Amino acid sequence: MTNHLYDSVFGKHAASSKIFLYTDAGTVSFADFTALTDRLAGLLVATGLAPGDRVAVQADKSVMLLALYAATVKAGGVYLPLNTGYTAAELDYFLGDAKPRIVVVGTIAADAIAPLAARGGAVLFTLDGDETGSLAEAAAMHPPHFTAVPRGSEDLAAILYTSGTTGRSKGAKLCHRNLLSNAEVLRDYWRFNADDVLLHMLPIYHTHGLFVASNLLAMVGGSMIFLPKFSVDAALKWLPTATTMMGVPTFYTRLLDSDAFTGAASAHMRLFISGSAPLLAETHRQFEERTGKAILERYGMTETNMCTSNPHDGDRRAGTVGFPLPGVELRIADARTGAELADGEIGIIELRGDNVFLGYWEMEEKTAESFRNDGFFITGDMAMRDGDGYVSIVGRDKDLIISGGLNVYPKEVEGLIDALDGVLESAVIGVPHRDFGEAVVAIVVREDMALEAGTIEATLATRLAKFKQPKSVIFADALPRNSMGKVQKAELRKAHGELFS
Ligand code: AMP
Repeated sequence: MTNHLYDSVFGKHAASSKIFLYTDAGTVSFADFTALTDRLAGLLVATGLAPGDRVAVQADKSVMLLALYAATVKAGGVYLPLNTGYTAAELDYFLGDAKPRIVVVGTIAADAIAPLAARGGAVLFTLDGDETGSLAEAAAMHPPHFTAVPRGSEDLAAILYTSGTTGRSKGAKLCHRNLLSNAEVLRDYWRFNADDVLLHMLPIYHTHGLFVASNLLAMVGGSMIFLPKFSVDAALKWLPTATTMMGVPTFYTRLLDSDAFTGAASAHMRLFISGSAPLLAETHRQFEERTGKAILERYGMTETNMCTSNPHDGDRRAGTVGFPLPGVELRIADARTGAELADGEIGIIELRGDNVFLGYWEMEEKTAESFRNDGFFITGDMAMRDGDGYVSIVGRDKDLIISGGLNVYPKEVEGLIDALDGVLESAVIGVPHRDFGEAVVAIVVREDMALEAGTIEATLATRLAKFKQPKSVIFADALPRNSMGKVQKAELRKAHGELFS
């Protein structure tokens, strides 16, 4: 038996001396990467990792971190990456819920995480962005050869947490088939091959940078310019070496803000891809005007991998996310009844296919609620399809906020604000923000008129990752409500929509 995902992705070019990763510190060949992966896999198994065990990781992006993902899969484990912005209080929940066997965090977080890891009997290692720490030291003691642990198509490869609209974050269970099938579909649809060099400036705790980008380039034997994070300067420095780029919309608006980003700087580029949040039609047009190239926008989510894309050949339409990918069944349905709607009508996107996850980790009820009886997953995204088959996303079902490409669920922030002394109630909304796409704004009704916005902001800063913290706290006498007592968030968005524009 083979290891379904590893063998077809990282295993495919494992022995090649070709460059897999370019970094500011030098290059890493496929063979180098395999040796690192194998040392880490040996360490994981020696530490007690059994097939199906979780490896929870919160660490800065590095080559070794990517190898840790490959190693976990190769060793038969389940990779569980966590946003580097999460606080110890947030990690407490994830570790308690996922019960990992091994936990890897940056040195700076280690003291706070050690008791949480110990509570569940997990072994803790450290790994920093410069590839130092106890994980690197221990891995160096293991041989650079490791035989992949057999895993089938339905075995779990990863769990990625998505925030819950009704409180708790949910762990999306992704199996080997989900990840491999999507990488194969994207390879063919976007024409990736061994000549491609992808400019990779995305985080790798999220589906976009981890699976869409990394699985794909490893599979085709291409290369990645693997940078810690996005900056205009880094992008401009490395663009001449790249053939393709994947980004969130913010990358593209920031590039357009720079006069140094010219048509000449990108003339050689084969493909620019955008996703994870809506790309403004205006940005699409400006980009085409500047470079002569149409950004290819696609749509996906943690639970479903990539599901629609504008075409490689053919019209990439601004403001749309294109067509369902091959093998992905998509229907637009009435949110309440699930009945399929006609083209031109707005409804909820529902999906079925090899790309769709197995369910939420230890949340059977939530899982059952999220699927129709015929196996379609209810995404929560509202959309319409036009007569030519292009899908446009018009909004989100449950007032999800996407700030800088990351999801913020108002309910979580509201819960923390409401619990503060002197607060009566609150509503958290997203308002348009040119840089972040949306900015988190909190409208708060006070009981204690002496309570200041700064006090609320300071308290939230210790409880929430930066991207979830409100960029503005506004006091109001009351929240607008409809006759059923529901807060009218649309009204609030209208009232405060110009805050950051
Ligand atoms: P995540 O699970 O973090 O990848 O977030 C998934 C959500 O991001 C989806 O449910 C959509 O609401 C949103 N999303 C992803 N890609 C796009 C896109 N191209 N346009 C609009 N929304 C998008």
